[in-house]
Amino acid sequence: MDIFEEMERRGHEQVIFNYDRASGLKAIIAIHDTTLGPALGGCRMLPYASEEAALTDVLRLSEGMTYKAAAAGLDFGGGKTVIIGDPASDKSEALFRALGRFLETLHGRYRTGEDVGTSEEDFVHSWKETRYLVGLPTAYGGSGDTGDNTALGVMEAIHAALMHRFGSPLLKGRRVAIQGLGKVGYHVARRAVEEGAEVVAADINPHVVGRVSSQLGIEPTDPWAVLETECDVFAPCALGNVINQETVGRLHCQIIAGSANNQLENDSLATELMDRGILYAPDFITNAGGLIQVANEIQGYNPDRVRHQIEAIYDVLLAIFQEADQTGQSTTAVALAHVQSRLNTMHAIHRIHA
Ligand code: NAD
Repeated sequence: MDIFEEMERRGHEQVIFNYDRASGLKAIIAIHDTTLGPALGGCRMLPYASEEAALTDVLRLSEGMTYKAAAAGLDFGGGKTVIIGDPASDKSEALFRALGRFLETLHGRYRTGEDVGTSEEDFVHSWKETRYLVGLPTAYGGSGDTGDNTALGVMEAIHAALMHRFGSPLLKGRRVAIQGLGKVGYHVARRAVEEGAEVVAADINPHVVGRVSSQLGIEPTDPWAVLETECDVFAPCALGNVINQETVGRLHCQIIAGSANNQLENDSLATELMDRGILYAPDFITNAGGLIQVANEIQGYNPDRVRHQIEAIYDVLLAIFQEADQTGQSTTAVALAHVQSRLNTMHAIHRIHA
């Protein structure tokens, strides 16, 4: 990969390679765009097949964080960290303290916290070296797990999509298919059941499906079948790229609104969904609840403000759905144009100095 060409293409400001021989830490921090404020974004740890795969992932994810923060009205930029390593065997106090020391060198230009492969407990080690962290356990000043607030945002997106498609936001009597019953999917299922929806759900972990279906009284299905379920709402709450050339023709839903990052394998699928009559709630708006929660830790945590900001997802999406209908563009294209417009406007006001 020609790194500078890729940075120019995606709009990145900075990519930092961090290596600590003693702990074995190999981490890449990518800062995409700090127009709105210091960068914010989680730290993923995976046994990447190659350094190039890790670099591609951190560039793509940090870019997505810029859009997510901008769309949520937050004054933070996009950033992300990837650690190359196996979370099952390569974690240590030294590794996360080394990461903390590298974060400290950025003086708050970037903050991170848990993501796929890392846990809030890992960052308790980093906390001994730096305060530029979010999402720590409550005992260390964090706001706790983000799963339910992310689910709350997903529910707002579902309500907006139902309103746009059927003229009522109510879930009562609607059929919702959920893929993935983890930290977010569980709460989406719970909230949907509480609102009177008929819920069918799948998880690759059979113990999770068994436990959640008996607890919530939902219909279990298998991970493949959930995609084809005839339903009003399909909520992808597992991994990315779930909508691809192979799966798009198998969907039987009216609406897609879920928490997974990068649900569409590529941007052209947004148009294909539109052509197939499926209303897609862009993932980077729908799943912003967790980011909104941790961003508020930095500004002085206030649960009412967090809730207020998450509830705004409803209005933001309703406006995007309407504009997409009026202009014939995909919802993703309209959402990205809104993000770019906010970045341009905020960039312009930064010319004003005291
Ligand atoms: P999680 O790891 O707690 O849960 C994911 C669940 O999906 C697991 O139970 C897993 O077994 C299941 N799963 C994996 N592949 C599957 C498949 N093919 N079919 C069915 N089930 C499958 O993760 P989470 O925190 O609930 O996050 C879910 C998604 O939402 C991820 O893509 C994550 O990046 C995204 N997200 C999460 C948050 C948050 O606050 N946790 C915020 C924004 C976005």
